[in-house]
Amino acid sequence: MTTDVVIAGAGPNGLMLACELSLAGVRPIVLERLNGQTKENRANGLVGQVVRALDRRGLHERLSGSAEPPRPSPGFVFGAMPLDLGRLDDNPMYGLAVPQRRIEQVLEERALELGVEIRRGHELTGLSQDEDGVTAEIAGPEGPYRLRSRYLVGADGGRSATRKLCGIGFPGVTRDDSVSRSAHITVPAELIDPATGGLNVPGYGPIPPFMHHRTDHGMFVYAPFSTGTLVNATEWNQDSGDEPMSLDELRESVRRVLGADLPFGPPEGPGPHQLRRLSGGNTRLAERFRVGRVLLLGDAAHVHSAIGGPGLNLGLQDALNLGWKLAGEIHGWAPPGLLDTYETERRPAAERVVMHTQAQAALIAPGAEVTALRVLFGELLRDARTTKHIADMMSGADIRYALEGTHPLTGRPAPDLVLETETGSVRLAELTRTARPLLIDLTPDAALAGVLDGRRDRVDLVTAKTSGEGLPTALRGAPTALLLRPDCYVAWASDSLSPDAKELDTLRTALASAFGAAR
Ligand SMILES: Cc1cc2nc3c(=O)[nH]c(=O)nc-3n(C[C@H](O)[C@H](O)[C@H](O)COP(=O)(O)OP(=O)(O)OC[C@H]3O[C@@H](n4cnc5c(N)ncnc54)[C@H](O)[C@@H]3O)c2cc1C
Repeated sequence: MTTDVVIAGAGPNGLMLACELSLAGVRPIVLERLNGQTKENRANGLVGQVVRALDRRGLHERLSGSAEPPRPSPGFVFGAMPLDLGRLDDNPMYGLAVPQRRIEQVLEERALELGVEIRRGHELTGLSQDEDGVTAEIAGPEGPYRLRSRYLVGADGGRSATRKLCGIGFPGVTRDDSVSRSAHITVPAELIDPATGGLNVPGYGPIPPFMHHRTDHGMFVYAPFSTGTLVNATEWNQDSGDEPMSLDELRESVRRVLGADLPFGPPEGPGPHQLRRLSGGNTRLAERFRVGRVLLLGDAAHVHSAIGGPGLNLGLQDALNLGWKLAGEIHGWAPPGLLDTYETERRPAAERVVMHTQAQAALIAPGAEVTALRVLFGELLRDARTTKHIADMMSGADIRYALEGTHPLTGRPAPDLVLETETGSVRLAELTRTARPLLIDLTPDAALAGVLDGRRDRVDLVTAKTSGEGLPTALRGAPTALLLRPDCYVAWASDSLSPDAKELDTLRTALASAFGAAR
């Protein structure tokens, strides 16, 4: 074996997996066909529970530039309909407005700090596998070569060579009836409403910032990011043309969508500036996420509309789910079937994103029937429970993995509990940065001390107290014990001050199914 894991693709998801494997003591080799960082910027931000997940690795601080923990967003938008999230008790919607290029930079820096080898200018062109490993064929700067590894992960994007080379189908739908044009621009200061930060378009009226705005003729977005003002106009059943995209083309499109002229000029500042036309879109889900020793990650496994920005919430959490399981296989402690739970746990998350992005696409489409549907939907959203349902779905907070035990936290992301430890007060998210599994014993007399015998090499024990600060209000009281997987999902939890023999048995079963037999 030349290496344990080869990752094809140094996009955000491949880099995140590389970091996770390194934290778990596995040194992957990342192959990236591009020589340098891509000039393209796709995502303008991260949306959902992934923001909390990055906090648990210390990456939120690097991306936000502040030591402040993530706070839920007071509002968001579903299918160009505003969501009033400030009134929810347990608001699950977090957001971080950072361009994808910056996210990739931060992840690459972190991967390099952790000792990951990233080979730029190396393209995966072929692969074969046998019982013991995978042989990758690579076109590198010095010519073609082969690399043998125990596992290969295709994080090589929506057109994944890995997926195609493995013959994995990618069923779904391709739509070709929409054209979306976006660019960085400057707008005259007098058009900006100082109270709302929105735009007052002469002859049309006010448009709130950072919201999809549907009209009878399309959709418009005005997004004054700190890195530059971005606008987007989307139309249906409109010829996209094949000449290079221009600001004049965007101007025409905005005029058709709003029925009014938006005076704007070219962007200022060093850039890079966006000037993009995208036609149509794909919604597809790989038939399998794993064939033998080859696995698919991120866009290689699923593509969907970018509406609502769910892509990296899904893909980066795929990487967090896969990293520790693959490391367990490589270190030899993974129980049988653990690696297959990557697909059983993450496919439903992907299916949910496929569903809600398609639902949103239906809600923003033109037509009187859609307008009527939106009126009805708006009425339903007045009920806070409906808003909560949508927010849970968009943020990924409604994902519950099927794990041992019946505690309401089991199978869900850990709450960011504040813990009183021997060394002082600490947020749970600050204890999980090394990605080690944790058994958090909050019982009054540290009743769980002996349970980890035979697994101390794999699971750390934290003894602490908590007042319950950081818990969802829906939970009646603070737990007295939590078993956390490295992806910070709760594998087992208890409310007993002194867990009885039956509960300890459940804990031992949970330990065995996540982290293998004691040895
Ligand atoms: C217009 C647009 C806006 C978006 N906005 C958002 C948003 O606001 N929020 C959000 O969360 N998501 C957004 N997304 C989705 C997000 O950009 C993707 O989900 C994300 O880029 C997927 O990351 P990835 O690492 O899986 O794949 P990619 O980012 O596609 O990276 C794959 C990498 O693999 C490399 N590669 C490909 N083939 C090979 C090969 N054979 N060998 C070696 N390397 C290879 C590529 O060069 C690339 O670097 C948006 C997407 C688009 C298109």
